[in-house]
Amino acid sequence: MEKEVKVIALIAHDNKKQEMMSWAAKNKEVLSKYKLCGTGTTSRRVAEATGLNVEGYLSGPLGGDQQIGAKVAEGKIDFIIFLCDPLQAQPHDPDVKALLRIANVYDVPIATNIATADLVIRSLKK
Ligand code: PGA
Repeated sequence: MEKEVKVIALIAHDNKKQEMMSWAAKNKEVLSKYKLCGTGTTSRRVAEATGLNVEGYLSGPLGGDQQIGAKVAEGKIDFIIFLCDPLQAQPHDPDVKALLRIANVYDVPIATNIATADLVIRSLKK
């Protein structure tokens, strides 16, 4: 990866939280080398599942996605894992779209499924 990754943000919609926990546990060693943050419930559950320190923002539907988007705009987040639920409408859909958009504005890698998260984390291991 060309840009140096220092801070990784973790976000998972409710039906994707279990996948996020398993993925984070599997990649705990690599993740421990980075500063982690995430939306409220995701950050708490990843911290509980892995023992990693994850800075928590507000819950996604209450503004957490927007807080992470603001950090992206400030250049303070280098990689986002955003496990979106493609099968259920989200009350905060405008915030979800805004986060995807701002990540693209600033060319910040954003993995929206496990297959992509795996590819990116592999590139970080080197
Ligand atoms: P949560 O937010 O981690 O607080 O559940 C995630 C989201 O739905 O955006």
